[in-house]
Amino acid sequence: MKASNVTVLMDEITDLSPVERRAEGQSGGTYEYDYLLLAAGVQTSFFGRPEWEAHTLGLKTLAEAQSIRRRVLSNLEKAELTNCDKDRRRLMTVAIAGGGPTGVELAGAFTDLVHRSLRDDFRRIDTSKLRVVLLEGSDRLLGSFGKKQSEYAFKRLEELGVEILTGTMVADVTKGCVHLADGSTVEAAAIIWAAGTEANPLTSQLGVPLADRAGRVTPEEDLSIRGFPEIFVGGDLACLTDSQDKPVPGVAPAATQMGRHVAKVLKEENRLEKTRFRGQKLKLRPRFRYFDKGIMAIVGKNAAVVLSGKWALTGFIAWLAWLFIHILFLVGFRNKLSVLLGWAFAYVRDAPDTRIIVNRPD
Ligand SMILES: Cc1cc2nc3c(=O)[nH]c(=O)nc-3n(C[C@H](O)[C@H](O)[C@H](O)COP(=O)(O)OP(=O)(O)OC[C@H]3O[C@@H](n4cnc5c(N)ncnc54)[C@H](O)[C@@H]3O)c2cc1C
Repeated sequence: MKASNVTVLMDEITDLSPVERRAEGQSGGTYEYDYLLLAAGVQTSFFGRPEWEAHTLGLKTLAEAQSIRRRVLSNLEKAELTNCDKDRRRLMTVAIAGGGPTGVELAGAFTDLVHRSLRDDFRRIDTSKLRVVLLEGSDRLLGSFGKKQSEYAFKRLEELGVEILTGTMVADVTKGCVHLADGSTVEAAAIIWAAGTEANPLTSQLGVPLADRAGRVTPEEDLSIRGFPEIFVGGDLACLTDSQDKPVPGVAPAATQMGRHVAKVLKEENRLEKTRFRGQKLKLRPRFRYFDKGIMAIVGKNAAVVLSGKWALTGFIAWLAWLFIHILFLVGFRNKLSVLLGWAFAYVRDAPDTRIIVNRPD
């Protein structure tokens, strides 16, 4: 670590006491602070139906991503074993609730998986028959993008064989079955929940009104919270708008910009504390300004959508931009190079190596 004045401790904060300026960790540790930046992110939200969690797979962490891969690959292995057509159909169906970037990217990735990576791996089942059903409650996919880009993603996924149901609200989820508001059902041995997020529950311990049902917090212009100038919120759990009054999206560039902003404020106040300007710190705090670099989503191989300022790209150019940006922001030269070479090799071979079932199958 380059910054010698930074200490990293692996502990989960369980309690916050804003008035006492103290945080308690699961390890039993107590952390007294002069300043606090709460940036604990978001988690999957089931819109008040926590029982759905037992029947679905979320995608917020690497461990969850591995669970999805494990479940889908194990289901294909089970489908190869069974002699029952009905079971095989259920085992070879993946339902994805939520047609935002996560749902769209996943749906595209599954079609790549079965058409390319796994195409020669099974003898009794035809993996290209994997049924991917994408369910979206609103009338279009990728609601945060432009209409043309939504239409492009819809068309592209349809070409890849994804079944897309828009304007379709999920009414219930039971084991292996999604029940839709129109009374129909989708039987699927893998149900992925990409339909909603909510802020880390620590926001409810800040003692300030929450901005929305997702439990996010609207900070002051400098990212501190009202009544507690020493507490800042940042990243996905902050609810704020940019200079054009558009919501700041829950993306990595927004989180890093907020982190940098808070670091600047702290550095400046630390400097002032040591000078005769002590006490003037609040007046001097700059306002956080979000610089919108844009949003992007990949839609299977060779296709993506990018929305950046006046640029609204779709197709291969957008896909190249997606690859370039995602490699650019990887940490460390070694990672960048190995991912670049891995992707280039997979692209040329047209068959990424992904058939790994980690841990025991479900
Ligand atoms: C599937 C997926 C794909 C995405 N793709 C993109 C993309 O392509 N481009 C993009 O810009 N953004 C993408 N995002 C969004 C991006 O990941 C987030 O906007 C960004 O990570 C938010 O940063 P954050 O610091 O607010 O939260 P996080 O990155 O979620 O970090 C929060 C951290 O807090 C820790 N934490 C939580 N609770 C506690 C606690 N009680 N005590 C201690 N630590 C705690 C968590 O373990 C975590 O490490 C994607 C998100 C998902 C889920």
